[in-house]
Amino acid sequence: MIASPAEALAARYVSTRGASPALPFSAALGAGLAADGGLYVPERLPGFDPAGLATIPDTDLAGTLAALLRPLLGADDLTTRLEAICGEAASFDIPLLPLRVPGDHWIELFHGPTAAFKDLAARFLAASLATLRTADAPPQTVLVATSGDTGAAVGAAFHGRAGFRVLILYPDGKVSPAQTHSLGAFGGNVRALRVAGSFDDCQRLVKAALGDARLRADVPLLTANSISLGRLLPQMAWPALHALRFQRRHGHKLNFIIPSGNLGHALAVLFARAMGLPIGEVMLATNANPTLAEFFEGAPYRGRDAIPTLANAMDVGAPSNVERLLWLAGGDAAVARSLVGVRRIDDARIRTTIAAAEARHGVAPCPHSACGLAVLEDLRSAGDRRDWAVTATAHAGKFLDVTGPLLASAPAPPPAFAALLARPSHAMPLAVDVTALGRVLREDWG
Ligand SMILES: *Cc1c(COP(=O)(O)O)cnc(C)c1O
Repeated sequence: MIASPAEALAARYVSTRGASPALPFSAALGAGLAADGGLYVPERLPGFDPAGLATIPDTDLAGTLAALLRPLLGADDLTTRLEAICGEAASFDIPLLPLRVPGDHWIELFHGPTAAFKDLAARFLAASLATLRTADAPPQTVLVATSGDTGAAVGAAFHGRAGFRVLILYPDGKVSPAQTHSLGAFGGNVRALRVAGSFDDCQRLVKAALGDARLRADVPLLTANSISLGRLLPQMAWPALHALRFQRRHGHKLNFIIPSGNLGHALAVLFARAMGLPIGEVMLATNANPTLAEFFEGAPYRGRDAIPTLANAMDVGAPSNVERLLWLAGGDAAVARSLVGVRRIDDARIRTTIAAAEARHGVAPCPHSACGLAVLEDLRSAGDRRDWAVTATAHAGKFLDVTGPLLASAPAPPPAFAALLARPSHAMPLAVDVTALGRVLREDWG
């Protein structure tokens, strides 16, 4: 499955279900889901180029991203513009900080415009699609279902881009107040719909619209949900950067704890490790949604409805990226289970972890990052002395309804996100009805 750099010249993307034609990267990016219902994966995962990465400074996130993606794109249409696209995507820092206990580390992924890790890949996707767009092409509408963070990241990434509109669908009343405000605050070419249903209903609406050939003939549609390759592969940049830097400085590998919902960002870490980057163990931290934990404990995969928790961006009952994990494991569930560990953190533990975090670790976590810290605490209690980095997936100030009462000093949202909160916000109501969604899509706005 690991290709040599020469083989990677013909980089192509295939479906996890094996029944769709192989496509170059940019075509797979535009397609979103494969025609056979599977998810796109690289036909072969190239080895990373140690000599190329050695010349990139320790702090150059955009350069690291471009060096990693180059063999994955091969001779794609985007390759000649790769540096510029990565520069646009990785325009903020992702620092690694030491925590109080020696060997404990914290990687802050939340310094982008919407204060969650999804900004990096959403910006990559937007910059790539804008690069691929020809001047005379009809406007494209990006449809995105969100439980909060995805919608804001995609909205921010496409806001004001000529030739694109974004329609965000979120479950009314099931998203934090700050997230809700941010989703409706873009205006212009980005609109929010508050759906009278669950996140799964929002996803079903998006799928139904994407599957409606007549609608798509009238209104060219794209999707930016986490199954998109453009949302997955760019996330390899930060584990690569920190793993290489850590190995150079300490002579051994850094291990990672990843708060997980649909395994998107954890898979990027596993892909980076499979490409040969010096990444040690990977441990997933999930909330009370049991699908991943049960699968890793040995049960057959069984998707179900999501359970609402305090870590709402991880409320995923049917993590579709398990298909990509199985692909990475050559189709063998036992091998897949050996690639990564998983631990479950319930809401009560999320609260106690947040409440104790400033004194214990010196940081203020969001509810998702708190799941990661709780897993770290459990590893330490069991006597593990290795170096572990917890990824802080969002800023605590984005979830003040949960974190505010638990933290000694309520964290102010970071400036870019605060600016969004200061704007007026508007969302239109939508029933769980694809005809009603079609009407909004056919309207002239943005
Ligand atoms: C999306 C999200 C997650 C889960 O990421 P996956 O890639 O779906 O595993 C975790 N934390 C935050 C803050 C998120 O926005």
